[in-house]
Amino acid sequence: MKLYDSIIKATAEAAEGRAKSLPAAAAWPDPGQSELVMQRDAAFELGGSGHPSVNYTCVTTGELLPGGAVLLIGRDLPELKGDSPFARIVLLKTDEITEDDAGHDMIRQMEYVRYHVFPKGYMVRVSSTSYEEQVRVSRDAVKRGINFAAVGAAYLAKYKAVKGVQDAQIIFITDEAVVKALKPNAKKVDDITKTLSHILDGLPTDCGHCSLKPVCDEVEGMKEMHMGRKKT
Ligand code: SF4
Repeated sequence: MKLYDSIIKATAEAAEGRAKSLPAAAAWPDPGQSELVMQRDAAFELGGSGHPSVNYTCVTTGELLPGGAVLLIGRDLPELKGDSPFARIVLLKTDEITEDDAGHDMIRQMEYVRYHVFPKGYMVRVSSTSYEEQVRVSRDAVKRGINFAAVGAAYLAKYKAVKGVQDAQIIFITDEAVVKALKPNAKKVDDITKTLSHILDGLPTDCGHCSLKPVCDEVEGMKEMHMGRKKT
């Protein structure tokens, strides 16, 4: 699976020399459902109030970025004094995604996790149309010591529970320049994931009449995957 590798490479280049590895931490408590954090109870917002935001997930059978499972570029939650730019990028090392029910299931479950991690006092709003993610962090959570190592551990636990996922890496970014630099990647990732889903849904192999051709022309390995060759 090389489909997302050019995006992973671009992410690695943006992170190089800037990303720090956060120490392994216990997962921040997750009550299992979204919890409302009212504005009056918020310490700050990530990716909201006019600040740039981006969110995407890439899958590979190759290597993840150097460093630990949770990386941070910019300030950690306890260091933020107000609203901030925000990116959360997930890289997953998986088994080969196959054109059968197992491949389909893996994609579906990875999408499910994206919307189903609910750290306590950390209210997430994901916009699938703008590829953004906003988070409102409560004052109570800040008082209790919430940080990206613990939030990242909550995400890692959910992703690693998906069948076929061998390893996961969560990259949090609050540095404005890096968030802005990575923003264009999100649409490309979405195009790749949608095309992959259509292929796994059994789209006919007729490139001449296929609306997805612009994506396949750009993404290495997509056509080969659909035509059933082994170069994916
Ligand atoms: S390989 Fe051809 S038919 Fe398959 S999705 Fe790409 S353009 Fe469409």
